[in-house]
Amino acid sequence: MGKPTGFMEYDRCEARSVEPKERIKNFDEFHIFLSKEKQREQAARCMDCGVPFCQSGMTVAGMTSGCPLHNLVPEWNDLLYTGNYQQAYNRLHKTNNFPEFTSRVCPALCEKACTCGHWGDPVSVRDNEHGIIETAYKEGYAGPHIPKVRTGKKVAIIGSGPSGLAAADQLNQRGHDVTVYERDDRVGGLLMYGIPNMKLEKQIIDRKINVMKEEGVKFITGCNVGVDVKSAELLKEYDRVILCCGAKHARDIKAAGRDAEGIYFAVDYLSRNTKSLLDSNFKDNKFISAKGKNVVIIGGGDTGNDCVGTAIRQGAKSVTQLEMMPCPPAERAANNPWPEWPKVLKTDYGQEEAIACFGTDPRIYQTTVKEFHKDKNGKLNGLTIVRLESKVDEKTGRRNMVEVSGSEKKIPAELVLIAAGFLGTEEYIAKAFGVELNQRTNVATEPGTYATNVKNVFVAGDMHRGQSLVVWAIREGREVAHDVDTSLMGYSYLSVQ
Ligand SMILES: Cc1cc2nc3c(=O)[nH]c(=O)nc-3n(C[C@H](O)[C@H](O)[C@H](O)COP(=O)(O)OP(=O)(O)OC[C@H]3O[C@@H](n4cnc5c(N)ncnc54)[C@H](O)[C@@H]3O)c2cc1C
Repeated sequence: MGKPTGFMEYDRCEARSVEPKERIKNFDEFHIFLSKEKQREQAARCMDCGVPFCQSGMTVAGMTSGCPLHNLVPEWNDLLYTGNYQQAYNRLHKTNNFPEFTSRVCPALCEKACTCGHWGDPVSVRDNEHGIIETAYKEGYAGPHIPKVRTGKKVAIIGSGPSGLAAADQLNQRGHDVTVYERDDRVGGLLMYGIPNMKLEKQIIDRKINVMKEEGVKFITGCNVGVDVKSAELLKEYDRVILCCGAKHARDIKAAGRDAEGIYFAVDYLSRNTKSLLDSNFKDNKFISAKGKNVVIIGGGDTGNDCVGTAIRQGAKSVTQLEMMPCPPAERAANNPWPEWPKVLKTDYGQEEAIACFGTDPRIYQTTVKEFHKDKNGKLNGLTIVRLESKVDEKTGRRNMVEVSGSEKKIPAELVLIAAGFLGTEEYIAKAFGVELNQRTNVATEPGTYATNVKNVFVAGDMHRGQSLVVWAIREGREVAHDVDTSLMGYSYLSVQ
């Protein structure tokens, strides 16, 4: 370890955030990162534990603990502390194709499993990662690295989210000829049109895509595979096809009045906002506006939080976020010990902004929608919400959230955003290739493998594991690349970790 006494000498210090009332004036990233010197000091807090849980990525009590990419966290913390930035970048890049994305949007599973976090504050692993990758770009060693040998094998990747990009990067570096097909007008999947600009500025994605283009990856945007180009054509032209199409099929809310005008799915709302920002700085008016409206977001998770932050920036009159489940505890419960993922209350940036602007947390727990109300023109003007309680179903013995009768309440709403989760693969693309789905409507494979039931067709990312995290999508992209490379060459030295 860089400094044996570092964890005793220095307190945890993170990137500061611009004050909520200031940052809501625009859609820019709002973290003020530490100086190089201060970041190195933070790296000195890493104890280089005998058993570093931060990099384990194992399943504990049904949840992931530590980094699914098995990032070599203690190694690069040490190199960062000693100022060996290039070597730190090499170790980081060995396991993670896109530290510029994960150091901005990852919930940092590594930090939740950090040994320092057992009794005190964990090492600021994500900010340290940010310091390493941004220095690598500034100092010019983050690429391009053009492969010296080409194999002559051709691979098509459908979908340019983090799983497709990771697979493309790995296979291109291996020497295969890679083409990525994307339905949208811009590359990046949910990194581009999902995660809002204030969390991940889009020039960060373009910067990496430009490096990948120089390295030889081809991108075809505005091409909806299965509609604009037939699967048979791709299977004829390419040696292998990898489906990385995500899990965009959104869960709907089946309540009376659902046809009212003013109800949208969260990803449609968020993506139209980002597209309008990028295309015209909102001048084209093609976004869904929350200005002056009472906004209700159905779903208390991270996507719902992104909607809160976006609606506030657009000038919403009020923002309410409905969550079916009870409010989690402020601290770990006795049955949720370290290094398990902590099931505790998290107040994310959007909720912080709502508290600053409206004086209260926007979340209402144990509550759902019973009915949507509309005026005579069919426009949404309110909702009936109802409280829920947890009860055991006598027939099944299962615990369910059920309505508390008489707890109904009417609230005003001119805009509703549904952020109630996702139901897996979009049907048309699965049908186009004839790939089988499992019970969770994800594309089926044997456990731990990526080949589908269709010859030469592979799958990865959310389309394979269901809606998840960027870090998992990258891992799946790396693993599918390994399997595809093996199937093409008979062996593979592509690293999956
Ligand atoms: C609003 C929102 C915010 C999120 N925030 C975070 C976060 O902060 N941190 C985090 O770790 N995770 C976050 N996630 C989850 C994360 O974004 C996903 O798990 C990840 O992007 C999945 O990557 P993927 O490559 O599997 O698919 P996606 O990113 O969904 O990309 C799939 C791509 O395939 C394209 N496509 C689909 N069908 C076709 C076709 N037929 N032809 C051509 N192209 C096609 C789509 O247009 C899309 O670009 C968020 C998710 C959402 C919805």
